[in-house]
Amino acid sequence: MDTSEVIKRWREVKESLPVGVKLVAVSKHVPVEVIAALYRAGQRAFGENRVQELARKREALPGDVEWHMIGHLQTNKARVIVPFAAMIHGVDSARLLETIDREGARAGRVVPCLLQFRVASEESKFGMTLDEARELLESAAFARMKHARVAGVMSMATFTLDESRVREEFARSRELFETLKRDYFAGDPGFKELSMGMSGDYLLAVAAGSTLVRVGSALFRGDD
Ligand SMILES: *Cc1c(COP(=O)(O)O)cnc(C)c1O
Repeated sequence: MDTSEVIKRWREVKESLPVGVKLVAVSKHVPVEVIAALYRAGQRAFGENRVQELARKREALPGDVEWHMIGHLQTNKARVIVPFAAMIHGVDSARLLETIDREGARAGRVVPCLLQFRVASEESKFGMTLDEARELLESAAFARMKHARVAGVMSMATFTLDESRVREEFARSRELFETLKRDYFAGDPGFKELSMGMSGDYLLAVAAGSTLVRVGSALFRGDD
């Protein structure tokens, strides 16, 4: 992997993002040396989807890297990353949020989490429905949580060249974000993140109101 090419593509992606939209560089499968080069260029937020890989890379990189867990997190692995994760994007069940809360208490920190919604049509994608989210946010268990903080919404669009469909799915995510904000977080400035957009669709996501894009292959492989 040519690090100067990676840095060049990183600058291009950064320049294409409006002020206020955060870039999480998705570094899964990317060697530590390449991540370190991007870190030296100024990138701080990196995303991984596997707990072990994330923990291993964290050991090898400077302490001020912001590690974002973007993949599906199994409850039995939460303990490994809760002590340091900057954000956990893929929370899709009350049980997982409760586990993060418990582990956060143990680690003595508050962990920003995003509720993942299923807006794409592919069955394999994880995510909640609005009714499931309402049930969670109205539960007594949620009211007691002090160490898992819901900071917004995350979603993935269908992997397709059909732009109108992708636009519709991002618009739906935005609507879910606004609905939750209005109904549950109206007085909470901490509920502000809409994590959507990947290499192939991040500009569409930004146009739909994304605050946080998760871009991997467009930086590291240069295809997309
Ligand atoms: C891999 C991954 C990304 C980045 O995908 P690219 O198409 O490589 O940009 C974003 N979000 C999640 C959840 C991922 O697993």
